[in-house]
Amino acid sequence: MQAEYDTGKLTTFKIGGKIKEVYFPASVEEFCASEFNDVKVFGNLSNTLVSSYGYSGAVVLTSKMDEIRIEDTKIYADCGVKGPVLAQQAAKLGLSGLEFMAGFPGSVGGEVYMNASANGQSVSSVIVNIILYSKDRGAFTLKKSEMEFGYRSSVCQRGGYAVLGAEFELERRPAEEIKAKMQENLAFRKSRQPGLALPNAGSVFRNPQGDFAGRLLEDAGVKGLKYGGAKVWENHSNFILNENQASSTDVLELMLLMYNRVKEKSGIELEPEIVFLGGNNAREIEIWETLTKTQK
Ligand SMILES: Cc1cc2nc3c(=O)[nH]c(=O)nc-3n(C[C@H](O)[C@H](O)[C@H](O)COP(=O)(O)OP(=O)(O)OC[C@H]3O[C@@H](n4cnc5c(N)ncnc54)[C@H](O)[C@@H]3O)c2cc1C
Repeated sequence: MQAEYDTGKLTTFKIGGKIKEVYFPASVEEFCASEFNDVKVFGNLSNTLVSSYGYSGAVVLTSKMDEIRIEDTKIYADCGVKGPVLAQQAAKLGLSGLEFMAGFPGSVGGEVYMNASANGQSVSSVIVNIILYSKDRGAFTLKKSEMEFGYRSSVCQRGGYAVLGAEFELERRPAEEIKAKMQENLAFRKSRQPGLALPNAGSVFRNPQGDFAGRLLEDAGVKGLKYGGAKVWENHSNFILNENQASSTDVLELMLLMYNRVKEKSGIELEPEIVFLGGNNAREIEIWETLTKTQK
């Protein structure tokens, strides 16, 4: 366990204070044997805003849980394996289905948890078995049909389950064809998403039913809007960049401005896609409660 662990350099937002206790289990076995009590599990912190005021609880970071096993067209990955690493490994072996993972920096656990998707592919289209953990049940396996996958959602959110690992069933295709598809995906994303050289945490708000958060934000005129060191990306209004040493409060204040502008213009209350880990600052708590009130 590492005490007072600094997350500022670790998150893709390049924002974050100290977390009181951080655990790095190195395997599924070590995770289960640890019998963690009241911890939150995170992967690559690529969808998470960690408060600059820190977090006074315990967190598991899964980055050391990185085993990959391959058997014919089935590929198993521990939760801490990075999506791009898994996609490259599958491509080399001529296994298709994970090309979409090449383009963003999530871990397998984070991607399963929220059913990540891109370029017309999603976790739920290729996954077969998922190893989960809860305090009551210990480690257990669910089939895809039991995961209740939806848009950016799975049973893990409702059940409070940690994802320990996942097995994917892939399709044999020529390696060159798979690599070409990955290149095509990456080129497509370049114009629509900021790269990590511009620190961000992916899409800020979820798409509401039948519409796009980006379109609603664009219509509400938030492009280029700034708060402190945080700025709405000029190329796509559903991304916030940490342009100039933004604090988590800057990001949350900017999210609130975006949310209010859309509410005024279209009456729609957007819901955050980004996850917030904090709780030590009253203004941040107040904003987060406003932004998530419809999720409760
Ligand atoms: C440049 C950029 C582009 C992106 N593009 C896309 C995209 O195209 N499509 C897309 O879907 N996402 C995209 N994202 C968002 C992000 O990469 C995904 O949401 C990814 O799935 C998050 O994985 P993570 O490990 O970083 O999760 P974290 O940020 O660490 O955690 C996010 C949530 O997942 C939970 N979680 C993480 N690991 C586990 C686990 N093992 N067990 C249980 N819960 C867990 C956390 O508790 C938290 O609630 C993008 C992000 C960036 C920065």
